[in-house]
Amino acid sequence: MAANLLEQAPPEFARVLAGLPVPPANGGQPNQDENYRLYAMANFIYAAVDQRSSEWTDYTSASSPYLPVTPSSQSLAGDNAHLPSFVVTREGSILDERIAEAIQSVLWRVPDVRARPSDSLPEMGIWSCPQCDLPIDPADLTVDQRVLIAYHMGVGEDCGVVEHADGRVQLDPKNPWQYLRSVDCLGWDHYAMHLRTECLILWYPSPVSAYRSAPGVWWDEDRLSRRQVYKAVRLENEALERTERHQLRMWKAKKMINLAKGGVHAARFHLTRWRRGAVVAREALVKQMFAAGRNVVDTGLALVALMDKERVDAERLRWQAQREQHNDIRREWEARKTDWSRMYLGV
Ligand SMILES: [Zn+2]
Ligand SMILES: [Zn+2]
Repeated sequence: MAANLLEQAPPEFARVLAGLPVPPANGGQPNQDENYRLYAMANFIYAAVDQRSSEWTDYTSASSPYLPVTPSSQSLAGDNAHLPSFVVTREGSILDERIAEAIQSVLWRVPDVRARPSDSLPEMGIWSCPQCDLPIDPADLTVDQRVLIAYHMGVGEDCGVVEHADGRVQLDPKNPWQYLRSVDCLGWDHYAMHLRTECLILWYPSPVSAYRSAPGVWWDEDRLSRRQVYKAVRLENEALERTERHQLRMWKAKKMINLAKGGVHAARFHLTRWRRGAVVAREALVKQMFAAGRNVVDTGLALVALMDKERVDAERLRWQAQREQHNDIRREWEARKTDWSRMYLGV
């Protein structure tokens, strides 16, 4: 408590706090009941302006005016929502090694099936599969190739092909970007045919518009399950998916728990700050009343009224509600985490 508060206090304030009886103002013997009331009030005032926040319950003892952790920095959305490394980089996993091996076993002459086939197209020339030498002539499409382009591009004005009077059909060279994407489509579709024999699916982006994603290769699980020789791969794949699902859940739970902890921390921080402000206001009131010559009991009663108002202060209630809400979130996700761990371990 500030020293100047004691200086401004009436003399009986320090006296009752020290446990000494105070004689009535009009003389005579100290009154037991009155002294007790005085003693209680003086102690109440003393406690109400106590600044040692570390002794407050459920408030942080942090003296920094800055909030160390804000909930937004831990949000699941936005720039800070980093995906776990095992989701972003699946390289090096057993599954990808197996896929790479399987691709190698059928397309060992193709350096990278994900690379655009049009990159290796000689100018206005004929593309050929590095693996089997099958030629694809953009100036003379086969029926299957026409069907494939029509499947992606549809029919009509922008169908991506031009038909000549002699019946020859070629990729429309009017839009060079479109033209090259159609070559990619034909090349990737051909690679996909090779990969199907190894139960692999090659997905490639549509030639309709600029690519937004690179091609991907994964197991054709239906085919795998029909072929006994692939049983080991299938089981491995399933186990990996299960592990990944578990890790993703654990990651999400950890994220949510951290988010909740951050929220509780933030609420406590604001409650602490709010309480510091409240204590300053209490002290000002006490000083003011003592300076005006008011006695301990009157000052104590004014303080009680002020603290009653504090209890229903909107800001305080809001932070208390946030604290409870985040505590609930934390409890909920901790329970889920426990359940998921149990499921994963099969206990
Ligand atoms: Zn080929
Ligand atoms: Zn296609």
